[in-house]
Amino acid sequence: MAGTIRSIRDLPIEGRRTFIRVDFNVPIEDGKVTDTSRVDATLATIQHALDRGAKVVLASHAGRPKGKRKPEYSLEPVGAILAAKLKCEVLLTDDCISDAASKVIADLRERQVALLENLRFHPGEEANDEAFARELAKLADVYVNDAFGAAHRAHASVSALPKLMRERGIGLLMEQEISALERMRTADTHPFVAVLGGAKVSDKIGVLEVLLDRVDALLIGGAMANTFLAAQGLQLGKSLVEHDKLALARSLMQRAKDKKVKLLLPVDLVVAPGLDAPEGRVVPSNDVPEDQMALDIGPKTAELFAATILSAKALFWNGPLGLFEKKPFSEGTMAIARAGAECAGFTVVGGGDSVAAVNQAGLASKYDHVSTGGGASLEYLEGRQMPGIEAVRS
Ligand code: ADP
Ligand code: MG
Repeated sequence: MAGTIRSIRDLPIEGRRTFIRVDFNVPIEDGKVTDTSRVDATLATIQHALDRGAKVVLASHAGRPKGKRKPEYSLEPVGAILAAKLKCEVLLTDDCISDAASKVIADLRERQVALLENLRFHPGEEANDEAFARELAKLADVYVNDAFGAAHRAHASVSALPKLMRERGIGLLMEQEISALERMRTADTHPFVAVLGGAKVSDKIGVLEVLLDRVDALLIGGAMANTFLAAQGLQLGKSLVEHDKLALARSLMQRAKDKKVKLLLPVDLVVAPGLDAPEGRVVPSNDVPEDQMALDIGPKTAELFAATILSAKALFWNGPLGLFEKKPFSEGTMAIARAGAECAGFTVVGGGDSVAAVNQAGLASKYDHVSTGGGASLEYLEGRQMPGIEAVRS
């Protein structure tokens, strides 16, 4: 991994066409953006470029239009939000590469902002196609990647394109993401506590293995905990259990023991007959009725986890502790969100749903770092090389 990575601060952007790859892949319902946090997260980078007199060219993907032009995946609603937030005009091009787009960019003046239409309207984006990247390169003098959430994908705008550019680097958001996650990955701060939840063990095997080598305590909740409990021989009724991962769960528990990592599993659970049940009831983990499913950690578990979290000097949290989208099963996740917010150590949350939970609790500002990258933050912690980071090295 040779080569330094330059920050936008050190790139010659004054008066130049500065192509900023952003992550504007935001949720849109009925033509309205329902969560603007990804836009907010990159505003500082855009403002920095404008303040230095750059001609700003923004590019992003949105949704999965699969290489076709589909109006419902247009970035137009995001452009409107962005214009309001920046208090300036945002020129949306009809396409990311077209004669009209070239003209808009050629006419762009200093301190003006253009937003290219959805990159994924072209199959070349996801195919990491050179010819497509060369077309994008014609629109730019300087390349900046500020899309951490897309950095783990080898797509044209994050991989092939920067390699064609002499002046390339990263934005302020990307810098923050890398420094917070790098600190989590390498710092020798103890006690280091990790909380892992979410749907599946199989999604998180890599990060579980890496964390086991680093943490003092690993707290497991969510549907993922069911598989660990089942691996200990407990009956989980109708709960989601990955039966093909029981052996893996056993070997991870053995490794934790060998390494003297404190591995905590739920001691009580909130159970209900199904995902749409209006309420649940608390049972000990070894007493889940046959016709019920575990949908949240119970209050004793929440208390136990919270105490360990509060003692942490470094905390990494990924994955909700229950079906938090449904009110009757959100309490465990909210309790953990509050404990993390109160923790005096260095606290990082990563993962699309976990971040949504922290936002829902109104506690995002209490964390040292809330990662905008779901999959990307886990891959970074695992120490995997990421195409979007490798491609901007000089
Ligand atoms: P993140 O996006 O933070 O990485 P995941 O995508 O791995 O998290 O998992 C989040 C999903 O897991 C949520 O939709 C949540 O409802 C679900 N989930 C968590 N615990 C349970 C459970 N006990 N039963 C069913 N679903 C659960
Ligand atoms: Mg998720």
